[in-house]
Amino acid sequence: GAEDVPVLRTRGLGRRFGGLVALSGVDLALPAGRTLGVIGPNGAGKSTLVNLISGHLKPTTGSVEIGGTDLTGVRPWRIAHAGVARTFQIVKPFRGLTVADNVAVAAMFGPSSVRSPAHARREAAEVLERVGLGGKDGLSPAELSVADARRLELAKALALRPRLLLLDEVLAGLRPAEIDPALRLIDELKNAGLTLLIIEHVVRAIAAVSDEILVLHHGKVLTQGPPDQVLSDERVIEAYLGH
Ligand code: ADP
Ligand code: MG
Repeated sequence: GAEDVPVLRTRGLGRRFGGLVALSGVDLALPAGRTLGVIGPNGAGKSTLVNLISGHLKPTTGSVEIGGTDLTGVRPWRIAHAGVARTFQIVKPFRGLTVADNVAVAAMFGPSSVRSPAHARREAAEVLERVGLGGKDGLSPAELSVADARRLELAKALALRPRLLLLDEVLAGLRPAEIDPALRLIDELKNAGLTLLIIEHVVRAIAAVSDEILVLHHGKVLTQGPPDQVLSDERVIEAYLGH
């Protein structure tokens, strides 16, 4: 039935930049409600993978299917309308807007049924509460800590009411004390039924929230499997140490 169709499927997905093969031969099938962690050393191709899925880059090989529909190479807004939201590794808030209005704008321009400014503000308030930014709606994004700026980035993605959420290094730059609350938030999204693809450089943190982990190295899939199996794989340890 339809519930067996993976939310995300890639086949032979790859991208070259001139002579550099940033990513090649990535086959993924991510069922609804599951969380896939994607790890790998710097330059492994993680952000390229997210960009290919979200439509911010066009693949040079392979395909991307969302909910069984081929959306290879289409523009980002079409991917968003298919229910895919993402965060950016470099956060991109609208600096001239408050935290709340940043999220309200995302809600208004997303594929959801939010069409009036009043409705968008209610949505924004709800999402900000959910990510723990409830008291900071009136601030400027510039006034937020690194951790809160990440929460805002997440709130903007959630305002699109996605079924698939792509998180690109949302834990990067967080202080150790900030990592656990961030992971708890990811866990809550999981429990709410969201399908997640989480890109991380920090390996240990992501094991706790991932059903499966895929390891990229030099643009190729090094291995894929349950977290404990992957993290004890000598090739994975070597890929990180050798970097
Ligand atoms: P990661 O996110 O795992 O650190 P990236 O996907 O950002 O890795 O990059 C993979 C490789 O592709 C790197 O060698 C990077 O320099 C290269 N790359 C990424 N984006 C571009 C681009 N727009 N133009 C040229 N090279 C790129
Ligand atoms: Mg990256």
